[in-house]
Amino acid sequence: MQRFTGKTAVVTGAASGIGAATALRLAAEGATVVLADIADAAGEDVVKDIVADGGRAAYVHCDVSSQEGWQQLRDCTHEFAGPPDVVHNNAFIHITAAAHELTDDGWDREIAVNLKALYLGARIFVDDLRSTRGCFVATSSVHANFGLPGHPAYAASKGGICALMRQLAVEYGPEVRFNSVLPGPILTDVWDEVSEADQRLSARATALGRLGAAEEVAAAVAFLASADASYITGADLVVDGGWSVKKESK
Ligand code: NAD
Repeated sequence: MQRFTGKTAVVTGAASGIGAATALRLAAEGATVVLADIADAAGEDVVKDIVADGGRAAYVHCDVSSQEGWQQLRDCTHEFAGPPDVVHNNAFIHITAAAHELTDDGWDREIAVNLKALYLGARIFVDDLRSTRGCFVATSSVHANFGLPGHPAYAASKGGICALMRQLAVEYGPEVRFNSVLPGPILTDVWDEVSEADQRLSARATALGRLGAAEEVAAAVAFLASADASYITGADLVVDGGWSVKKESK
């Protein structure tokens, strides 16, 4: 299926994990993809993989927490492919510290990369997306709705993403669609710091009994970004193997 032939997509946090899988998926479905990240070597490697598969892609160094980064990303996207049809904001950081231990700088940095970036990105690309009748997809998390010990700014940023995306859907509704994906436990590099025992516990906490793959979230992003989702906006699409609906206790 070639749902994105003739379309251009921008993906942030595209050097690894869910962002890389989304870039590969959209390219495989015909999109020209502009990958943005701060991990330049890894980002260039994903571009090479896309090109080796016959796709078209470019990499841009972009710190999503800065206005200049987004401006550079927009300029490069225009130069490479014109105004985008799809923008997927996905980059993130996380700092593990309980609320009383998190520093002001830690809070500000996490909110800037995870949440303010979405505002900056939407602001800079909204006219383009209006002109292409395009859509914006944001990666939130199940922790928009459920607490995660040691991650106050992460949870707040992910809840903020869902709220802001609903707001943007209303604000720019007739022309641009805005939807969020809320992944559960997805086996990317961030899980390297989780012990195997804890990984097994998280897998057991899902209804499907396993951790998800980045490609399974990419498939959901591609759906929301495609014409198949033409009547979906302001939505939160949970991609968690049933983690959110499973309770062990009676
Ligand atoms: P990942 O670490 O593989 O990818 C994150 C990418 O963001 C990296 O390539 C990193 O270099 C990039 N990045 C970090 N700071 C940046 C900045 N300032 N500017 C630009 N790029 C920056 O992680 P992942 O697991 O693929 O996570 C992707 C998204 O999925 C995140 O938004 C995360 O919150 C969400 N998510 C992941 C899981 C999971 O279990 N993996 C669960 C829920 C939500």
